[in-house]
Amino acid sequence: MKAAPAAQKRLLDLAELDSVVDRLAHRRRTLPELAEIDELSARVARLATQVIAAETEAGDLAREQTKAEADVDSVRVRAERDQKRLDSGQVSSPKDLASLQSEIASLHRRQGDLEEVVLEIMERRESADAQVAKLVAERDELAAARGVAEDRRDAAFTEIDKEAVEVKGRRTAVAADIPADLLALYDKLREQFGVGAAMLQGARCLGCRTSLSIAEINRIKAASHDEVVRCEECRRILVRTPESGL
Ligand SMILES: [Zn+2]
Repeated sequence: MKAAPAAQKRLLDLAELDSVVDRLAHRRRTLPELAEIDELSARVARLATQVIAAETEAGDLAREQTKAEADVDSVRVRAERDQKRLDSGQVSSPKDLASLQSEIASLHRRQGDLEEVVLEIMERRESADAQVAKLVAERDELAAARGVAEDRRDAAFTEIDKEAVEVKGRRTAVAADIPADLLALYDKLREQFGVGAAMLQGARCLGCRTSLSIAEINRIKAASHDEVVRCEECRRILVRTPESGL
């Protein structure tokens, strides 16, 4: 392939801009905020699971309390009914009176026991509710921290993308100075190896930093200025400039 030395030299400007594009893409992929957001998301998800478990426990205790309170009520109602019968004077037999009084006393003891149960459930429920509140607060705090990290990420993205648009605009202008076949070769090499062209300085390829063999240098020296030469080592297009010292 042949191309005017000036067009070949423009490849170096193109390579410089492409390396900026690559650096920007790398920065976008490796923003510290991305890892931070991932970590916070994992913690928020773990806490969300814990919140559900704690809420389930608190809900179970609430139902348990309702049931225990209903038990207290039914015993109380029975005791009240018995007490009314006793107070009404309708029960006259001493045996029946003694039996009724004994039942009332037994119901009162039973009510006391059941009230103890209600109190015990209420205590457990209180601590379960406190646990829910603690986990919810923790989850919300982490979710807020994640929101802040997302805002920082978005701000960085905006800045990077703005710079990328500007660099790509400059790249388009430089590419316009390069003949289509040379540009196509450069783009193909860039796609294949990540880089398309490098300067030849002395006997070194500045792309892969390898020194070329004497035979290779002699071959390049003998080649005409518009011949497009390549590095044997990295396959980049080697651009000869006055600094190449050939
Ligand atoms: Zn090389």
